[in-house]
Amino acid sequence: MDWCCKFLGLPAFFLSTYSEPRSHGQGILQCSASEAIFYSMIWAREDAVRQLRPRFPSKKDDPVNGKTRADLLNMLVAYCNNECHCCVERAAMMGCIRIRKLKADKKGVVRSTTLLNTIEEDMAKGLIPFFHCAIIGSTGVTSYDDLMEVGPVCQKYHIWLHVDAAYAGSAFCCPELAYLKQGYEYVWSTNINTNKWMMCNFEASLHWVRYRTKALAAFAGPKWESTTYQYPNNVPPDLKHYGVASSRRLRAYKLYCVIRNYGVEGIRRYIRNHVSLARLFEAYVERDPRFELCGGSFRFGLVTFRLKGYNSLTQKLNDAINASHKIHMVPSHFHDKVVIRFALCAEYANERDVDDAWNAIDHHATEILHEAQEEFKNDRAMRDTFVQQRKHDTYFDYFPHPDHAEKLAEAQHVAKNLAKSLAEDALIKDADNTAVDGSWGNGDPDAFASYDKKLRDNPEMVRFNFDEDYLHTDDPQLYKVASMLHLAMLQSTVANSPESKKSKSRHSTDV
Ligand code: PLP
Repeated sequence: MDWCCKFLGLPAFFLSTYSEPRSHGQGILQCSASEAIFYSMIWAREDAVRQLRPRFPSKKDDPVNGKTRADLLNMLVAYCNNECHCCVERAAMMGCIRIRKLKADKKGVVRSTTLLNTIEEDMAKGLIPFFHCAIIGSTGVTSYDDLMEVGPVCQKYHIWLHVDAAYAGSAFCCPELAYLKQGYEYVWSTNINTNKWMMCNFEASLHWVRYRTKALAAFAGPKWESTTYQYPNNVPPDLKHYGVASSRRLRAYKLYCVIRNYGVEGIRRYIRNHVSLARLFEAYVERDPRFELCGGSFRFGLVTFRLKGYNSLTQKLNDAINASHKIHMVPSHFHDKVVIRFALCAEYANERDVDDAWNAIDHHATEILHEAQEEFKNDRAMRDTFVQQRKHDTYFDYFPHPDHAEKLAEAQHVAKNLAKSLAEDALIKDADNTAVDGSWGNGDPDAFASYDKKLRDNPEMVRFNFDEDYLHTDDPQLYKVASMLHLAMLQSTVANSPESKKSKSRHSTDV
C-alpha cells in the first residue's frame, strides 16, 4: 500500500508509520470500492458522534436536555456528487445515514457554492454535515470534482472529505496528469480500484485513511488502545480492525505481481495508451455533427457520447452495437440524457481497434438515423393531416351556417326566458291534455284541480306532449327550444283558463 501511495503520488500522510514515522495514515487493500466507501462513511460517522459528545451531553449526564446516541446520529447529514456511483447511497442506507445528492453542473462537477449553500441550509435546520464524497472519474461520464474548490469548504465545516477515484485514480501515476490530484491535501480518505484500470484482477481496491486512529476507534471500539494488542510502531498493522471480516484474502500478492511484472513505467504506458486512444475516439465524435460528447473535459480512458436528438436514438444505437457482438458498450444517463460509454479496457488496444469501433458505430448510426428519418416523414404527414383537420374545424367554429346561427340565438333567448317557469309547476307540462279534453270549458270546475293533484301525487306522469310535429328534429338544442316554445303556449293557455281566472278573483276578494 505504501508503494502504491508513493507511485500514485498521493500525500505522504496516507503512508503507514512503517514508511513514514511522522504519518498517522494507513492503507488497506479492500475487496471493492463499495466496501471502502462504506467503511469511510462509518469511520466519519463515528468520528462525528465523538466530536459532538462534548457539545451534547448524554441522557445519563443530563436527563432533561441530554441526547442519546440515536439523537446524535439523527442530526448527521452526508453529501455526495449526484454523479457518484450508487454504492455511495447504498453505503448511507446501510449506515443509517441521511444523505443528500448534490446537483452537479453540466460537466458533472459539484461547485463549491452548491456545497456551501447546502451546508448552510442544513445547518439552519439543525442538521450537522459530517461527510462529503467527491468524485474523480465518475462511472457515467468520468467527470471529476475540483478538490481545490470543495476541499476548503469541507475543512471549514470539519467535514470528512472522501474521494472516490475507483476507476480514474490509477491515472495519478502519470506525472503529466498530476493536476487531477490537486487538492488531495484536504482529503481524509480515498479509494482506487487496481482491478479497474491497473490490470489487477478483481478484487483489489486500494483504500487509504489519513488518521488510522479514527478507523480503529470506529471498528475496534473507543477503547481500542487498551483492549487490542498493538505491535510496536504499528508494524505490521492489524488489518482486521479496518473492515468487517477478521481474516483476509492475500490480495496484496497479486498486486505485487502486477507491479513487479510491468513496473511503474509499464503501468504508466498502459494508462497513457488508453488516454491517447480515448482522445483519438473523442476527435472522431467531435468531427461528426450527428454526435455530441458528454461529461467532463478530461476523459481518461472512457469517452461518453450520444446521438444528438431523442434519447431513443442513442438507446437504439447502443442496442444495435451490442447486438452486433463486435464491440460491447454500456449506456448510462447524464442529466436525463441517455449516453453511450466507449471504454478502453484491453491491454493491447491500438488505433486500429478504435477505427474499427468507430466504423461500426458510424454504420449503425447511419442505419438508425435513416430509419428515424422515414418515421419522421410519416409523422410529419400525419401531423399535416391533423393540422388541416384542425383548420377545417376552426373555420366551422368561426363561420357556422347562418340558419343554424339564427336558430341557436332564438333557442338561447327562449331558454333564458323559460328557465324559471319550467321549474315552477309540473302541472303546466301536461295542462293542454286537460284543456284539449275540454273539461274546464264544459262545466267541470274541479277537473283541473283534481288533475293537478293527480300529477303531484304521481310525478312520473309529468312529461311533454311529444306528438306535435314541430318537436321532431334531430338537433337536441332545437328540440329543447321547441319544447320550451310549446310550454310557453301552454303556460298562457293555463293563465287564461276560466279556472285560474276564477281562483285569481277569489284570492283578490280574500285580500
Ligand atoms: N465508484 C466508481 C467511480 C465506480 O465506477 C464503481 C464501479 O463501477 C464503483 C465505485 C463501485 O466499484 P466496486 O464494484 O469495486 O464496488
